Amino acid sequence: MKQLDAFYQDDSNQIQQEETTGVLVQEDDQSFKPHYGNNCMFRFDNGQPQFTIGPHWPLSLCAIISIIVGTYFISSIIHIQSGLWYSLGSIMNGLILEVCFLRVFLKNPGVNFTLNSVARNEKSCQPCKLVKEQGTYHCSKCDICVRGYDHHCPWVGKCIGEGNIIEFQMFLLSFLFFFTCNLILVMI
Ligand SMILES: [Zn+2]
Ligand SMILES: [Zn+2]
Repeated sequence: MKQLDAFYQDDSNQIQQEETTGVLVQEDDQSFKPHYGNNCMFRFDNGQPQFTIGPHWPLSLCAIISIIVGTYFISSIIHIQSGLWYSLGSIMNGLILEVCFLRVFLKNPGVNFTLNSVARNEKSCQPCKLVKEQGTYHCSKCDICVRGYDHHCPWVGKCIGEGNIIEFQMFLLSFLFFFTCNLILVMI
């Protein structure tokens, strides 16, 4: 009963604020604090993070170092076997792969803080205080809700969702391109 009273109290406070300011400000007396979970977020635009770094970033660091060392190693072999121009081609492939990886690693997978004030029904997520829309899933590893959740990828250190699924597919394609091109260059 006390909780119910608290809800009504909260509603009336918000309505009062709306009436006085004309704008519904969500950071009212309850002072909504965005739940970041196990993520590091930065470069906010309209209250939404553009970049997020997930909890498994050390694995991503290992992956990017492996990609850089692997690219250098493969291009050195190609340089010895086939010459400078072929090795430059291999380095270019490696650069594309690294850029694609960094884009998935940094981009917000679908964390959205705008749906907080009405998070009072059974479809809401308690830790995030967000309304769970269809396709939104609370990742236990990242401890945050992600819209259009696809899966949690430990290699990029975080979730793949609607915000970075295209970048993730681009990364997979660039990996396939890198692998095929370098195989051909080694065999020449
Ligand atoms: Zn959540
Ligand atoms: Zn996750």
